[in-house]
Amino acid sequence: MKFREKVARFMAGRNGVDQLNQALLWCYLFLAVLGLIWDGFTLLAFLVMITLFWRILSKNIYKRQAENRKYLTVVWKIKGFFSLRKRRFSERKTHRYRRCPHCKATVRLPYKKGKHTVCCPKCKKDFQVKI
Ligand SMILES: [Zn+2]
Repeated sequence: MKFREKVARFMAGRNGVDQLNQALLWCYLFLAVLGLIWDGFTLLAFLVMITLFWRILSKNIYKRQAENRKYLTVVWKIKGFFSLRKRRFSERKTHRYRRCPHCKATVRLPYKKGKHTVCCPKCKKDFQVKI
C-alpha cells in the first residue's frame, strides 16, 4: 500500500484539519517564537501542539465541528466589528452611524446636521437623532 493511501485510511472518520486547527497551528508557531524569550511560552506552545494533534486525530467529529463553528462565529463577530469601524471612518464625511434605542441595530444615516426623526429599518420604530 502506498503511503498516501495509508494516510487516507488512517484519517478516515477523523476530524482532520479545520479552521480552528489552522488557527491553533498559527498560535503554536507564534508561541514557539516567543519561546525564545521565555521558557513558559515553549510549554504553552507544547500544550497547543498536543491540543492540535488531539483535534486532528479526534474521532468525535460532531463535537469537533461544533467547536469549529463556535470559533468561526467568534472570528466572524470580530471581523464584523472591525469592518464596521473601517466603513464608519471611510464614510465619515457623508454618513453617520447611530444605534437604534429599541432594537440596538446600527443605522447608517446621511450626514445632515440637526435633529431628525429616524425610522429604524429593522424594527420600524421611530427615534430622534442629533447629528
Ligand atoms: Zn430598531
